[in-house]
Amino acid sequence: RGGSGGNGSGDGAGGTIIILTLHDITAIKRSEQMRADFVANASHELRTPLATLLGFIETLRGPARDDAEARDRFLGIMHEQSRRMSRLVNDLLSLSKIELDEHTTPTSQADLARIARSAVAALELKAASRKIKLVLDAPASLPLVTGDEDQLTQVLQNLIDNAVKYTRDNTEVRVTLAPVTPASGGRRPAPMVSASVADRGEGIDRTHLPRLTERFYRVDAARSRALGGTGLGLAIVKHIVNRHRGRLTIESEVGVGSTFTVLLPAAVSVDEGAQVPRTAG
Ligand code: ADP
Repeated sequence: RGGSGGNGSGDGAGGTIIILTLHDITAIKRSEQMRADFVANASHELRTPLATLLGFIETLRGPARDDAEARDRFLGIMHEQSRRMSRLVNDLLSLSKIELDEHTTPTSQADLARIARSAVAALELKAASRKIKLVLDAPASLPLVTGDEDQLTQVLQNLIDNAVKYTRDNTEVRVTLAPVTPASGGRRPAPMVSASVADRGEGIDRTHLPRLTERFYRVDAARSRALGGTGLGLAIVKHIVNRHRGRLTIESEVGVGSTFTVLLPAAVSVDEGAQVPRTAG
């Protein structure tokens, strides 16, 4: 802690009031350090596939020039590395865009059931390739939420994608939507909608949970990369949920599975009020 700025002003009665402002520069230093770490991590993540690409291009222009079998194999690897860079750049762009408007609250209304259906559909093929069944469990009617449809689609897609990535073959990934009426704490509680994604995967040791939504934090970096992960999915989820004034909770048991739940404020407007579950008081 340190740094000070003084601000003096007369009180009109001959005395002087001195207002001393102490700035918490440790917080500023910490955020500068985080930014520097982020740039270093992002550069490192991009440098690795880039080095692989350069290596293979040089080999293809030199020693492997006339080797058709090697060319096909190398092109396959180069394609995968390019896709990895592309995923990373897309996630970095998403993150920076979300950060830019994190201080504005969404005003539109979104239908979480429709969003969940499209997120499930987008991942069905990937899940089926490992015999994973995607199940959507939604009530016949659900209150709308206040939110940005594209961003909420990204939230559910990232969570379902992770569940599919980290669950065991031949298991089920269940997406459950439900209205939630928080316990009344004196004031009338705001109705919420919850969306949870549960898998039967390896689970996550509790020591990792507090850091799981940090950018590039992975329990097992090699495994995440092998599965096509960028290490940014949950950071994107956290920022979008924050922007929506929602909450993300993670429950996990090693060897049993994980459940990621997003709680979002229901949209209550004069004409929509009837659809939203009423609370006592
Ligand atoms: P990644 O691209 O590595 O999956 P995320 O930010 O989406 O990055 O997730 C961060 C880390 O959290 C992952 O690398 C993985 O270790 C862990 N993780 C996320 N979802 C799950 C899950 N459903 N089951 C087990 N581990 C998970």
